Amino acid sequence: MSDTFPVEKFRSLKTPFYYYDLNLLQDTLDQVKKHGLSKGYHVHFAVKANFNLPILEIIREAGLGIDCVSGKEIERAIEAGFTPDQIAFAGVGKTDEEIRTGLYHNIFSFNCESIQEISVLNELAREAGKVANVSVRLNPNVKAKTHKYITTGLSENKFGVNPEHLPKLFKMLPNLKSVNLTGIHFHIGSQIRDLQPFKDLCEKVNLIQDRFEEEGFPLTHVNVGGGLGISYEKPDEEPYPDFEPFFNLFEDNLKLRDGQQVHFELGRSIVGQCGSLISKVLFVKEGITTDFAVLDAGMTELIRPALYQASHSVDVLTSDKPLQTYDVVGPICETSDTFRKGIKMPKVERGDLVAIRSAGAYGEVMSSGFNLREKVKAYYSDEI
Ligand SMILES: *Cc1c(COP(=O)(O)O)cnc(C)c1O
Repeated sequence: MSDTFPVEKFRSLKTPFYYYDLNLLQDTLDQVKKHGLSKGYHVHFAVKANFNLPILEIIREAGLGIDCVSGKEIERAIEAGFTPDQIAFAGVGKTDEEIRTGLYHNIFSFNCESIQEISVLNELAREAGKVANVSVRLNPNVKAKTHKYITTGLSENKFGVNPEHLPKLFKMLPNLKSVNLTGIHFHIGSQIRDLQPFKDLCEKVNLIQDRFEEEGFPLTHVNVGGGLGISYEKPDEEPYPDFEPFFNLFEDNLKLRDGQQVHFELGRSIVGQCGSLISKVLFVKEGITTDFAVLDAGMTELIRPALYQASHSVDVLTSDKPLQTYDVVGPICETSDTFRKGIKMPKVERGDLVAIRSAGAYGEVMSSGFNLREKVKAYYSDEI
């Protein structure tokens, strides 16, 4: 049984649905303010993790900016009331239309991921009669020690410019009159729980900064990206990550020049724990090795287990019967549509409610219409 959730209210709602605890979101943001913003750091929320307006509004009020990876995300950020000078725009494959969206709004920074992109941006900015602020995203070749699909900072990954190719950029830049190089950008991966990779990143940042300076390109911004992980195993014991050592690490290890600003792009660590996917047990099926609890939610509502072999905690909300072993599965016609295998949880029956925890980041935003499934609703703690 749960005291974290308004279970009685849940019983009257059509399942599955996403449920967001806005108090927890606020508590998480308070930690970011206390340990990050207080140092003068700029934190951009990676809106791809969750783009729901009620969530964005709370994040905006906390004083964070936005990190976008598409033109539509820029528009969503503006709609949510963020100002263009709070918006950074990354992505390996920005279309001309998306670049024009960013130019139109005069965003804070285009985080460019290739040398060709910088020259295309220069061209489009010239046409628009603007000068675009650019941060070069560099691939620092740092191991993030996370799932290979969410590792982004290795030479073999598609993201960022390899530092080996910097001489070409240095040669080209003086001729690009419609871009203004303001910073360097990095993002080494996601769900990083051990801080060592961030320390390795700082070392690379310091070396790369020196190179830019030697070439006569002083930088006003250093953007170290996001990636801080959350506890999927124990969401109640660790409702938000420990932001203090995370921000302190950068304070201790980055060699900044006078007046230089540090930017972060946090997604998962801000919204991951405040969201749950609430689902009903449709059937309990006897198996040979374990029984199956078949839910009405599946990979169409939360694809992380199928996509990244992620494991989410499953809380049974309406039973406190003795424990039994289950495979917790969805209804979709894919074997990977399995939330958990062989977990012990209170015995469930048809109609019992469960909460799949830590679903606030990369949950609802990745939902799909596979099997012609309908998009499910989101509810917020302040409305039910
Ligand atoms: C996804 C992404 C982030 C956020 O990653 P989290 O692991 O959710 O913190 C930050 N920056 C860029 C460029 C991204 O693509």
